[in-house]
Amino acid sequence: MDYAQFLRRVPKVELHCHLEGTVRAATFAELAGKHRIPLPTSEVDSLYDYDTIEAFLEIFGLVASTLIDEEDFERVAFESLEDGQRLGNLKYREMFFNPTLHTRRGVPYRTVVDGLVAGIRRADRELGVGCRLIADVYRQDSPEVALAMVEEVLAHRPDEVIGLGMDGAEAPDPPERFAAAFARAKAGGLRLTSHACEDAPPKNIVTCLDVLGCERIDHGYHILADQAVVQRALDAGLYFTCCPTATARVYGWPDLSRHPIGGMVAAGLNVTLNSDDPTMFHTDIGREFVDLCTALEYGPEQVRSFCLNSVDGSWLDEGDKSRLRREMAAEFDALHAELGA
Ligand SMILES: [Zn+2]
Repeated sequence: MDYAQFLRRVPKVELHCHLEGTVRAATFAELAGKHRIPLPTSEVDSLYDYDTIEAFLEIFGLVASTLIDEEDFERVAFESLEDGQRLGNLKYREMFFNPTLHTRRGVPYRTVVDGLVAGIRRADRELGVGCRLIADVYRQDSPEVALAMVEEVLAHRPDEVIGLGMDGAEAPDPPERFAAAFARAKAGGLRLTSHACEDAPPKNIVTCLDVLGCERIDHGYHILADQAVVQRALDAGLYFTCCPTATARVYGWPDLSRHPIGGMVAAGLNVTLNSDDPTMFHTDIGREFVDLCTALEYGPEQVRSFCLNSVDGSWLDEGDKSRLRREMAAEFDALHAELGA
């Protein structure tokens, strides 16, 4: 086993991955055929090739438009977890989905969530990979649409739905716009996180903590521009869900050895590694570990921290968390011993 194989094989938990960004290109093509949705190319391998964020968002929307029946959602949820296990030894994931991306096309919320839950339960049964769901506010929706989405989530809530998050372009629509949606989610018992400080200043992290009540921060790279916010995150033991490849591509840190994740780790922040929209960026959770840890020359101790940080930052019950932590630490240590031998 070489070091890259070791990085792929270490047990992982993922806290930042969007269901709609995990659809296999071949499945995308098949679902488009099933629903008679025209595609820009008949070359399956080229479906996820794009040079600009606009082109990416167009394909992202097109992928979502092929998810219509409950069985479509079940299939992509299952395959997404199957890929995580096969390519990166994924044990458990807290996965985002965007309800309004589907409901605004006329797909009932129940169809979306019941399909996803069926796929998750099948993956648990057949593969032993766990998953919970986080409904995401889409920032370019209005605050009223976001609040109505939260009400819909709370009104039909299988046990797998545990949290509320927020994504979409950050700069034009700052977090404070969605205070009401987050307050309602908190009152309804959902855990809270948000994409923040990815392409916007550190004050958005402060807003997410103080105004929205977020418990985690997704991305957070620009935090390094404000030492006071870094100190606050350190004092609070805040967890950050970082995504090397997607942000390297979109926000211009193509050289991973210079990606701000390195600075966040050096500052002592609780960093976790995640794949964001893996198939759409030609990556997977195993590759994220390989690419980042190789570029930053991280040894096994740092890799172990990444693996266990994700368990500690997860929203599992304390009992499940300590069981998973124990199992993953043992599996990691056995692999580390094998690597040394
Ligand atoms: Zn994301």
